[in-house]
Amino acid sequence: MSASSLSRRVMDRHLDRTRVLAQVRRGERSRSSILDATPSLIASAEVLGESIDADCPVCGQQNLRLTRWIHGQWLGEKSGTARNVTEIQKLIEDFAALETGADAELSIHTVEVCLHCKWNFLTQHEVLTLR
Ligand SMILES: [Zn+2]
Repeated sequence: MSASSLSRRVMDRHLDRTRVLAQVRRGERSRSSILDATPSLIASAEVLGESIDADCPVCGQQNLRLTRWIHGQWLGEKSGTARNVTEIQKLIEDFAALETGADAELSIHTVEVCLHCKWNFLTQHEVLTLR
């Protein structure tokens, strides 16, 4: 078996975040359309999320969390679930160590969530590909 090569692509969405917040400030987009975190997103942010030292861009409270979700066929039933930072690191190591002839992909979605007002936004989308 030959060694696999891992490629990593990170799509940063902070510009989109800034644009959406500006639209709300200008009244072009309703506040309710952005304060729509689901109960499961809030719960995962509370339990598995990483606290960040920043005020919520909408309500100004210090209740922001980053929550990370994993996706990929390789993950089986774990696909589409939230994980903490340590688990993600371990997953990436396991993924990189896979010996596979077929292409495999692992996506990590990082979502900013406010526990107070339910603001949520996909701030980063990372895709790891193994060939
Ligand atoms: Zn908030």
